[in-house]
Amino acid sequence: MRLPLVRIPTSDPSGAGHVIVLRVVPAILAGIVLGAHFLRAFELGPALVAVAAVPILLSLRRRWALRVAQGVLLAGAVEWMYTTAILVDERQALGEPALRLVAILGSVAVLTVIGAALLGSRGPLERFGPRRGSTGVSVAAVALTLLVVVPVQTVVDPPGLLLERFVPTAGWFEIALLALYAGWLAEVMIDPALSPRWRVRVWRLFSVVFFGQLAVGLLGVDTFLMTGKLHLPVPALIVAGPLFRGAGFFMPILFAATLVFVGPAWCSHLCYIGAWDDAAARSVRGSSRRPKPMPTWHRPLQFLILGLTVVTALGLRLAGAPSAIAVAVAASFGVGGVLLMILWSRRVGVMTHCTSYCPIGVLATTVGRLNPFRVGMSDECDGCGACAAACRYDALRPEHIATRRPGAACTLCGDCVTRCRSGSLGYRLGDLEPWRARAVFIALIVALHAGFLGVARL
Ligand code: SF4
Ligand code: SF4
Repeated sequence: MRLPLVRIPTSDPSGAGHVIVLRVVPAILAGIVLGAHFLRAFELGPALVAVAAVPILLSLRRRWALRVAQGVLLAGAVEWMYTTAILVDERQALGEPALRLVAILGSVAVLTVIGAALLGSRGPLERFGPRRGSTGVSVAAVALTLLVVVPVQTVVDPPGLLLERFVPTAGWFEIALLALYAGWLAEVMIDPALSPRWRVRVWRLFSVVFFGQLAVGLLGVDTFLMTGKLHLPVPALIVAGPLFRGAGFFMPILFAATLVFVGPAWCSHLCYIGAWDDAAARSVRGSSRRPKPMPTWHRPLQFLILGLTVVTALGLRLAGAPSAIAVAVAASFGVGGVLLMILWSRRVGVMTHCTSYCPIGVLATTVGRLNPFRVGMSDECDGCGACAAACRYDALRPEHIATRRPGAACTLCGDCVTRCRSGSLGYRLGDLEPWRARAVFIALIVALHAGFLGVARL
């Protein structure tokens, strides 16, 4: 039976596109009923998400958003079944009949599933999403973001998500925003023409959010601090801090998680200070904006600084140095790094702070190589060197291009991939085709970025 049609315009370039509204209305109603269910329990955040998610996602007119809307409704159906099971238990404990309750709530669950199924029917699905190639990666990014932030919302106490600290249950609303952002960002990042520009933009955004929260925390609103205590935002302290204090493992855990999932990509997508060095290296002056080759001793120097960092932290601890001394040493180290960006990165166009000075950088690019993601070159490479102009990590020197292997300092930023006219450069992950490896990488890095936006603050 054909459902009656009410047509609304879509972005279909043919102009013939329409969404069959009656296939969408059940989904919107299911969201409203679910919202009422949460509101009854005074769960404002979930109620808002349940009511707004489907209309907002559909208004985006993207396939991935349609799939996410279906996922929201399926999660809603699970919530109904869970609620039914709890209420049945309660009724049975009181010796009361539960059949009518099962029939009513079971029907609501079924109708919610039907609402989700109708969204996937031919009408809506065919009309949504001009960028079909991005659907899978956006859906994966949304799902992975939820995997990162939902445990923070449900397990961490005091609340890890900022909105939850101000309004109980509003953390769920923040989660929805982060997931939506991840879906959009994955769509942008999978587009080779857009990804280099957007990688830098969102990386800087992360740094601004991170330091913005720190600034508010410094002004005395310690709700904006993760633990309520201030720490210096110097990456070296990710290692040195726990060695000195014997505590404070939050940032090391975040850093280790990135090594496990995306190898050295911390240093090209997630680090709050790395974004500064990137900006400094991009602001290089002179006729040629091409990064200049670095001296061969710069990487051994970075290993040496890593060793000194460890020895200094342990030495201060064993000597029983007061925290003020440790803070002064760490702050001096941080200021030294910023001076390096200004005096060296801006001159040579290479991220000298990150490739020669920061101990976390050398850890990321050595330990991170245990992760199987790589950027690699195929035999089609003709050695033109166009990619080298994009690499600010000194990982595409002539010898690297000659041997068809980016150097050890590669952080998987991906800027070179889009510069290669012969398509010889690409992400590698086992036997996956390069475009699949890139899609997996982007889903993971976008989810980590979105998750860190929600939780990474000092
Ligand atoms: S090298 Fe250090 S400052 Fe640079 S991106 Fe990596 S961790 Fe951050
Ligand atoms: S080799 Fe390519 S992916 Fe690796 S750091 Fe350089 S530009 Fe980025």
